[in-house]
Amino acid sequence: MSASSHALVIAGAGATGIASALAAARQKIPVLLLEKSAQLGGTVTGTLIHTLGGFFDDRGDVLNPGLSAELIERLVEASPFTCKRRIGKTWVLNVDPTIYQQVIGNWLNEYPTINIFYQTGISHATINTQRIDAVTVIGNGQSRTLNTLAVIDATGRADIVRSIDSRLVTEGSALAGLIVQLGGVSSDTLDFPKGLALLRHIWKAAENHELPPECATLWLDNGVYPDEIYVKFSFPANNYDHAQMLTVVNLLLAFLQARPGFANVFIRCQGQLGIRDGGRVHGDYTLTEADLKQGRHFDDALCRAAWPIEHWHPEHGVSLDYFPPGHRYEIPLKALKVGGLTNFFVAGKCFSAEPRAQASARVVGTCWAMGEGLINAHFGKS
Ligand SMILES: Cc1cc2nc3c(=O)[nH]c(=O)nc-3n(C[C@H](O)[C@H](O)[C@H](O)COP(=O)(O)OP(=O)(O)OC[C@H]3O[C@@H](n4cnc5c(N)ncnc54)[C@H](O)[C@@H]3O)c2cc1C
Repeated sequence: MSASSHALVIAGAGATGIASALAAARQKIPVLLLEKSAQLGGTVTGTLIHTLGGFFDDRGDVLNPGLSAELIERLVEASPFTCKRRIGKTWVLNVDPTIYQQVIGNWLNEYPTINIFYQTGISHATINTQRIDAVTVIGNGQSRTLNTLAVIDATGRADIVRSIDSRLVTEGSALAGLIVQLGGVSSDTLDFPKGLALLRHIWKAAENHELPPECATLWLDNGVYPDEIYVKFSFPANNYDHAQMLTVVNLLLAFLQARPGFANVFIRCQGQLGIRDGGRVHGDYTLTEADLKQGRHFDDALCRAAWPIEHWHPEHGVSLDYFPPGHRYEIPLKALKVGGLTNFFVAGKCFSAEPRAQASARVVGTCWAMGEGLINAHFGKS
């Protein structure tokens, strides 16, 4: 892309950034998608999220048309193991994160107007009369300045907002998570009541110091393949010690190997530390817990959401606050506007919301719908 042409610049190729890029490409808007890491997919592929929430309401109907519905179709088409799954009062899409990554990679490749740059970020934004006119981009040892149509901070941690004015960001406070895929497990291992008994056995072993304390709050979930389960650890983000967690996972593996159904268990993949709340911006409007509970409608609504308030409180642990049956709420454009700038937005899990509102709106399906809704609202739906 030449320095003189204008592009939509999106920082972050997670759920939100990808949805925005696809929506813009469909409107023939040139896109520069900048990703700090070396891979696509953000938290879903990095942390290994296999239960994608926020795509369906409590009846299992798709909440938002457009890219969300199309993504579901593409994921189902790509693998016979992708399926809609009931968990408690919610519906999720059960999907292998590797399949998700392949599907979004192929999808983005359909659009030559989307230019993806890995290990690249924004080092400077040139602001004139309440607009970001240009950004300086650094990656792979190169730096260049590009003209912008608009800029979207979809970094999940409000990195671009921080670089403009760090006072516009409140640090996140939710528990972080580490997810491990185990293979070689008997398919009925987590069936009720066996799964619950196994969990209790693990928690008890942690209490008795037969397992490390990190195992005292872990959770087990069926995976995507019949021989697979996911182990989910949670802890405060600043307590994370990678080497220590490798030891914990290996001790757990040895413990499980002695249990029925686990003789052949192995680690299929260990995710990176997952940050549920990497900081939220103070936007033109802050979405509140009361807005969610009232099912508030907004004139500038971008999308619908219905996921319960799944709050991973740093001291009290996880709580799930369900809405009444059929309940929905909306996310307004003004909660994505920040700093009085007319062509700058922050979308995805770091948008402007109270902690307990973010605890619902951060799920993958809502991030997809938010990313697409933002493009349609700002550029007009074609
Ligand atoms: C442990 C854990 C479990 C979860 N479980 C579920 C679940 O079961 N179901 C569900 O629906 N949701 C779940 N979530 C939430 C959900 O996965 C995330 O909230 C959602 O994927 C966030 O999407 P995003 O696009 O806002 O950000 P991300 O997916 O985090 O994407 C941000 C991207 O920006 C990149 N980036 C960061 N800084 C920069 C920069 N300066 N420049 C360029 N790129 C940058 C990152 O590398 C990343 O690729 C979970 C989250 C965690 C942490």
